[in-house]
Amino acid sequence: MIEFKGVHKVYENGVKALKDVNIRIDKGEFVFIVGESGAGKSTFLKLITREEVPTAGEVIVNGYNLSKLSRKQIPYMRRTMGVVFQDFRLINTMNVFDNVAFAMRVIGAPNREIHKRVPYVLQLVGLSDKMRSFPLELSGGEQQRVSLARALANNPSMIIADEPTGNVDPEMSYEIMELLNAVNRLGTTVIVVTHAHDLVEKFDRRVIHISDGTVVSDSGNRPTADGAAAVQLPEEAEIDRLEEKKAAKAAKQAEREAKKAEKAAKKAAKAERKQKQKHPGDELPAKVTLPTAEFDEQEPEFKVFEETPVAAEQAAAAVEDGAQEGGEEA
Ligand code: ADP
Repeated sequence: MIEFKGVHKVYENGVKALKDVNIRIDKGEFVFIVGESGAGKSTFLKLITREEVPTAGEVIVNGYNLSKLSRKQIPYMRRTMGVVFQDFRLINTMNVFDNVAFAMRVIGAPNREIHKRVPYVLQLVGLSDKMRSFPLELSGGEQQRVSLARALANNPSMIIADEPTGNVDPEMSYEIMELLNAVNRLGTTVIVVTHAHDLVEKFDRRVIHISDGTVVSDSGNRPTADGAAAVQLPEEAEIDRLEEKKAAKAAKQAEREAKKAEKAAKKAAKAERKQKQKHPGDELPAKVTLPTAEFDEQEPEFKVFEETPVAAEQAAAAVEDGAQEGGEEA
């Protein structure tokens, strides 16, 4: 599930790429994102994949609040989605099998699983007989089908396709859309950015139109092309459920850790306040942290700023030590 709540994206150069976008895409939906060049479509996708963060508002994807995601969590969140690019992005020195297997190898999938899953996804995209071929021996449409198989390799709950038919001839374009449709019927959410108006009309699915950073129309959720509800193979459904559970658990754990850190910071602040109350005449902070060497190097002016209270603290401590311990060292 994807939710955009009051999302604004302003790039550093001041361009307002998205303005107050509020959208919800439920699990299992098929959505076309359309709009003229520069409308904000890629920005919309980049916020979903967490390549960009919103300037304001919230983006929630598969249980992850992307604004609160730690760096470590990003790869786990990305495993819940498969991305298909206009220019395929295949590795030309690897055959079809290895291109797809590569996506599984990088996340440490065992060989046994790779040898089961890769033929399955290649069969889904109709390329069982091309497993040993190399990308440059294939047509544009076939390369895009390999790229779709690779996106499906780790059984994502969502496929994001950025102009998937941009480099494919019209006939193949239709086949690619058909495949995305089939993938969607297996229960996977599909989001497609496209300029291909004829295909958008033919497939009659939800269309979100973005213009000048704003959602100007949204046709709403639609059933599958033949009117049937999305179906899902039991095995795939079970894997999805487990993946979702795992994602939600990880998101909750991150939230708990953030709360714990906040609590600890509050406790420390309270202890500091208490310490001050105990010594009302004491002008100095209870604890002054010396700037680290690294900090000094990065921000030399910070050191200058901090030196005065630190020096005062040290002098005060030395006097106090001297008074308490019989003045060994002043
Ligand atoms: P689309 O995908 O619909 O063509 P984009 O999301 O790529 O639109 O771009 C939306 C607006 O944001 C455009 O005006 C574009 O020039 C600008 N833009 C996109 N990426 C950046 C960036 N990294 N830095 C600055 N401006 C950008």
